[in-house]
Amino acid sequence: MDWSPLRIKIQGSCIYCEGSGYVNDLLCNCAIKFRAYNRMVRGGFHEYTLDFITGGSYSIPMLENGLEAIQYFVANPDVALERGLSFYIFSKENGRGKTTLAHYLVYVLLWHFSKTENYSPNRKYMFESIHSLCKKFRSGHMDEIANASVLVIDDIGMETRLADWKKENNITMLHEILYQRKDQRLVTILTSNYEPSVLAGFYGSVLDSILEIQPDGRIGGHLYRQVEVGGAEDFRLSFENSEWPV
Ligand SMILES: [Zn+2]
Repeated sequence: MDWSPLRIKIQGSCIYCEGSGYVNDLLCNCAIKFRAYNRMVRGGFHEYTLDFITGGSYSIPMLENGLEAIQYFVANPDVALERGLSFYIFSKENGRGKTTLAHYLVYVLLWHFSKTENYSPNRKYMFESIHSLCKKFRSGHMDEIANASVLVIDDIGMETRLADWKKENNITMLHEILYQRKDQRLVTILTSNYEPSVLAGFYGSVLDSILEIQPDGRIGGHLYRQVEVGGAEDFRLSFENSEWPV
């Protein structure tokens, strides 16, 4: 068998199907997991983050708001994909699990579809940091990003700190991509360290209507929901990682 290292890692060690991918003619969970991983890793998602969320100790971080929207998305993957339900996930501090949460949401979708689909060539799942996205803006190949079924843009707003930040050009490209995606009802997940009103300021309000930033500074309306990851330490995670046995 000519297996990729990823497949060997996930499926090769499975004690339920002994690597065959099937148990009593039913697809084994390891095979579903491999399908989901494979498509995400190819799309730029981080393998070590996937290992973390599938490792058994992951839980959704404490949220200031947006929990209901997250729960709906997770419980209704078909609806989420069909309607293009989208998120703006932010917290004012680093290390609160925004990127991990974005991985989790896409993994949940892919887990669902991987139960019945081995491969769906018309669907693409992409992860881009805002930095890598800005580089792609300059290379000009934007169709793939604009038309991906699911796109995560990580750390939006950080590009304003780049020395070589060509502001007008990047805003125009970002606007075009988000506009096209919204028009086609494609799932877009943005993460940021900035609350929506601050982000609106960075972009001179160019993105306000696309991101549905309301006059009161909150995001929400047609397709987007805002999710604010709590500013407080996530104690659940701390306890799970504790060195104390008691
Ligand atoms: Zn298995």
